[in-house]
Amino acid sequence: MLEKRSAHTQNLVEISEAVSRQFVPCEREYISSRVGTADPLLEEQCEPVRGLVHKYHNRVLCLLTAQCASYCRFCTRRRMVSDIEKGRMAHEDIDRWVEYLAERPEVTEVILSGGDPFVAPIELFTYALKTLSELPSIKVIRVGTRVVVSAPELLTEDKLDILRGVRQPLYIGINFEHPDELTEATIEAVGKLRKAGAILYSQTVFLKNVNDDYDTLYALFTRLVEIGVRPYYIYRCDPVAGIDHFRVDFKKERAIMTRLRRNLSGLAYPTYVIDTPFGNGKVPVPLGFWDVDDFKYRDFQGEEHEVI
Ligand code: SF4
Repeated sequence: MLEKRSAHTQNLVEISEAVSRQFVPCEREYISSRVGTADPLLEEQCEPVRGLVHKYHNRVLCLLTAQCASYCRFCTRRRMVSDIEKGRMAHEDIDRWVEYLAERPEVTEVILSGGDPFVAPIELFTYALKTLSELPSIKVIRVGTRVVVSAPELLTEDKLDILRGVRQPLYIGINFEHPDELTEATIEAVGKLRKAGAILYSQTVFLKNVNDDYDTLYALFTRLVEIGVRPYYIYRCDPVAGIDHFRVDFKKERAIMTRLRRNLSGLAYPTYVIDTPFGNGKVPVPLGFWDVDDFKYRDFQGEEHEVI
């Protein structure tokens, strides 16, 4: 995976250890992992049209570009986020998405992701959002991004204008991992997205030596609510090859989330989930209030798994 950082990220890397660990490569990435595959969610097997992943009956994921402004070392899609050439979409690809969706009115929600959609060229970004927004069967549009954290300057006025033109409710999911990411520029970028009419939510991944402690997550989720971002999910780190060193002890994660549940408001508390192997659903982890087996669960298809 490429190592490419914006000036904003570089500055953060220099002042925050927690941020540096997320973005600076280390030797452990190249040591063979105890667990993990390149594509644990099997996205490539559920791609009926280039760049469109269809796993759940009512929604699809559209990967607009493999390019990103962040290059997080723990990225679940690190297999493709470096592959800029292969992951470059064109207007014809978007036309094929639209054809696919027009034949499937049961799909009502599109999640635009990547890489990072805000890094895509403005013509492609505009074309994707306009054409998808015009489809009558699409009722909700979501965009996943981390530019707010890694390169807030990429939220240009022309892109914000496109967001304002989206017909449907527009939800923007932002990856936040640590309170150090909430710089003045990031908070300002969040404000611009809110003013453009987007509804904002966060996604967080449990990361060893980055955010695997109560105080850090308490501060992060509290601050997010204060700036207008609703904490949505916190994930157990996916078993992706090369990121074993980021994975936190499961019992420790549960203990932190249980304590947070006691002390955070419901609004500030995200759902703690495991993205199940083969992409069979995001299964909520029961907290310490329940007397249940710590290590076994069933996915959306009823398959049993052990936590790894
Ligand atoms: S922002 Fe998302 S897509 Fe980009 S590197 Fe980070 S996790 Fe991967």
